[in-house]
Amino acid sequence: MGQETFHPPHDLTEGIGSPDDLGDRYRLLAELSPDGLVVHQGGLIVYANRAGLALVAARDAALVLDQSITTFVHPDDIGQMLARIKKLEQPGAVSEPAEIRLVALDGSISVVESTSVRTTWQGRPAMQVILRDLRDFKAAETALLHQAALAAMSANVSEGIIAVDRLGLVTSWNPAAEAIYGLSSAEAAGRPVGPLLGPLPPVGQSREVQHQRGDRQVVTVRVSVSQLRDAHDQCTGAVIVCSDRTAQLRAEQQYAMVVASLEEGIVVTGATGVIESANPSAERLLGQGRNRLVGSVLDRLPMWAEDGTPFTGGNRLNGVAFGRTVQDMVVGMHGKYGEPLWLSVSAQPMVDPGEPPYPVVLSFTDITKRRIAAALLLHDATHDPLTSLANRSVIVRALDDGLAGLQRDEDGLTVVFIDLDHFKAVNDSLGHGIGDEVLRLVAERLRLAAGPHDVVGRLGGDEFIVVSRTTSDVVAATALAARLRSALDEPFRIVDRLLVVGASAGVVVAGRQVGNTAEDLLRDADVAMYQAKEHGRGRHELFDAELRAGAVRRLRLGEDLRMALYTNQFWVAHQPVIEVRSGRVVSTEALLRWDHPDLGSVSPAEFIPVAEESGLILALGLRVLEEACVQTVAWRSAHPRLRDLTVAVNLSARQLADPYLVREVEAVLRRTGLPAGALWFEITESMLMADTDSSVRVLQELRGCGIQLSIDDFGTGYSSLAYLRRFAVDALKIDRSFIMSMQDDAEDAVIVGTVLTLAHGLGLRVVAEGVELQEQLDMLTELGCDEVQGYLTGRPGRAADVLPILLGTPNAAA
Ligand code: C2E
Ligand code: CA
Ligand code: CA
Repeated sequence: MGQETFHPPHDLTEGIGSPDDLGDRYRLLAELSPDGLVVHQGGLIVYANRAGLALVAARDAALVLDQSITTFVHPDDIGQMLARIKKLEQPGAVSEPAEIRLVALDGSISVVESTSVRTTWQGRPAMQVILRDLRDFKAAETALLHQAALAAMSANVSEGIIAVDRLGLVTSWNPAAEAIYGLSSAEAAGRPVGPLLGPLPPVGQSREVQHQRGDRQVVTVRVSVSQLRDAHDQCTGAVIVCSDRTAQLRAEQQYAMVVASLEEGIVVTGATGVIESANPSAERLLGQGRNRLVGSVLDRLPMWAEDGTPFTGGNRLNGVAFGRTVQDMVVGMHGKYGEPLWLSVSAQPMVDPGEPPYPVVLSFTDITKRRIAAALLLHDATHDPLTSLANRSVIVRALDDGLAGLQRDEDGLTVVFIDLDHFKAVNDSLGHGIGDEVLRLVAERLRLAAGPHDVVGRLGGDEFIVVSRTTSDVVAATALAARLRSALDEPFRIVDRLLVVGASAGVVVAGRQVGNTAEDLLRDADVAMYQAKEHGRGRHELFDAELRAGAVRRLRLGEDLRMALYTNQFWVAHQPVIEVRSGRVVSTEALLRWDHPDLGSVSPAEFIPVAEESGLILALGLRVLEEACVQTVAWRSAHPRLRDLTVAVNLSARQLADPYLVREVEAVLRRTGLPAGALWFEITESMLMADTDSSVRVLQELRGCGIQLSIDDFGTGYSSLAYLRRFAVDALKIDRSFIMSMQDDAEDAVIVGTVLTLAHGLGLRVVAEGVELQEQLDMLTELGCDEVQGYLTGRPGRAADVLPILLGTPNAAA
């Protein structure tokens, strides 16, 4: 195309002397011609150039020379060829070019454009045929068509498609290429592709190439090159396909960075469980470097399950490869320094379109801290914070388990209730800090003294419980109690002091009878412990039939109390209090009485604690107060001698804690008309010891009203006189136990004398309780006691019965 047709001279041998000259000059030109040149004379071929030989696939001129020209023309085209030649009469006449088909020696057919020229060959007429191979034109035609199709196609694809010619100049540059390289097709056209795209991969391969664009943006482009070849297998150029991987690479990098920076460990295993990748957190958590991790099998790492058994989760993980997921499986392992490490593992298959097993993604989170916190929480919820012993809920659970075991005929069940004997004294005299230390040491000793499977707990205060399921008979239970107690008998060394605390214990050996509850056992053990205290402390008591009867009676009293309140089974007895100096009754103490319809007279010493437990003491106490006031006002107004009579009413701890107490007392005084100064409240030492802010405030308020306070049963508690100074009280009542034996026991007499001296030193009046003998009264008179109260000077009784004593005319009543 575009190539000028070669026109040979009219006579190819013109001006040439010899045929050999011809050969030299014509051949020289003819052999260079890209067109086939064939000369035939009389129909026989006399010359064919190299291109002509090639057209008929003749390797050698000898195969063609002297052959008829028709041998090589398709039979259907011979006629038209001969007709055209005939027309060429004049030498130099040239035919119209016509397409004919050549039949090559190998039988293949090709289409050529043939032009015939009448000429002479060595002086004789001849025909020269110029054969132009049309395959190139056909190919070019097709190429044009293809190029159009390519342009249409490449306009709409996301890949950049760039065509270059043989010299590497851009001939086509699609819109995607414009976008990738930031260069319009007009700008790119005709420019060498190398500088535009950078280094290209070898033909047939693809490569990722970093490329800085004109706008300085760096793009990563995957480039592949394929060569274009023409019909002769000559390279005519190349097509370069490029795809922009920048965004995807950036996303991949970001993803990798995110995974790398995750707190969570991420491991990807292949379908067979071999670790293929691991992020830094996974390396840290699993304590293995990447090199050790990648290529190894997760199962082989030393791990254990939550219960401490070797890790068998591998099977579960294997299941993941078949499409299951695993959520929050807990796995334990050793940390870098051998410390326990707990991981929560979740696993998910990377389900791909293929068949299972699939690759698996595992994520690990370190839950060690969380587990420790949870364990601490659990410990806090189940343990006494001071001693770390089991708390009440754990004790109750141990008892429930024990009771259930008994029903299954397993084991035994023994409960030991331990209460320290002299803890209050330690706490009050040495402070809570030392008190807490004693409790801690007690806990430690009990733990050592108890059996390895026994539950040792603290109920609160100085009350401890030991639950033993290996102790099933009375002998063993008593031995256990003795062992626990003697562990506490030895003095405690705290800083530079030796403290003797001691303990009383109650023991219950649970029987197999149904219906016992944990609370029943605790109550029974408590009852037995109280019994031990009553029997003089520092001992243990077994809960037995008698105690059970006592407990049953307490239960019954508790149930009957409320009814008793509404059916007036209660009444108030009055006991005279005599002033030693004048011998006159100056006061009475109101003492509650209960005439039970079945049980007869029940002692307040027995039912007051029960009423305290149920809270009924509040109503009952008010009832006593009201009646005491009414009676005292009546006596005061009826008898001039009793004008200044005062009355003492016992106050229980529960009442003192009642926020309405002061208001109610004031109301009673108003209602009855008794002056506040005529009312005494008796409180026990232990109530003072409780020392809660609110009870101290209530006592101050009562005193502010003008009411006087005395300490009841003085000497049985552990308060010192110095301690009493802190509380504003007006009088002391020395406990009956000191008075009872003072005439026989010199030591008791000394104690009474000392108390009197010290109390007077503090400006307190002193009342001696339980004076039964004249001897006692004489000694008390000698010691300067202010007042006495006892059977000697008047038993508690009904108002009418007591009145003669109050008036100083007991004989009149008799
Ligand atoms: P308490 O306050 O120490 O009362 C004195 C107790 O000693 C009374 O016993 C009284 O009857 C008894 N008693 C008096 N003189 C003698 C004596 O010479 N020899 C002997 N052996 N005993 C004597 P009671 O009435 O049985 O009261 C026992 C305890 O019950 C009282 O001890 C008091 O703590 C409590 N109580 C009685 N009534 C009430 C009350 O109304 N409210 C409260 N909260 N407690 C009360
Ligand atoms: Ca009293
Ligand atoms: Ca008393």
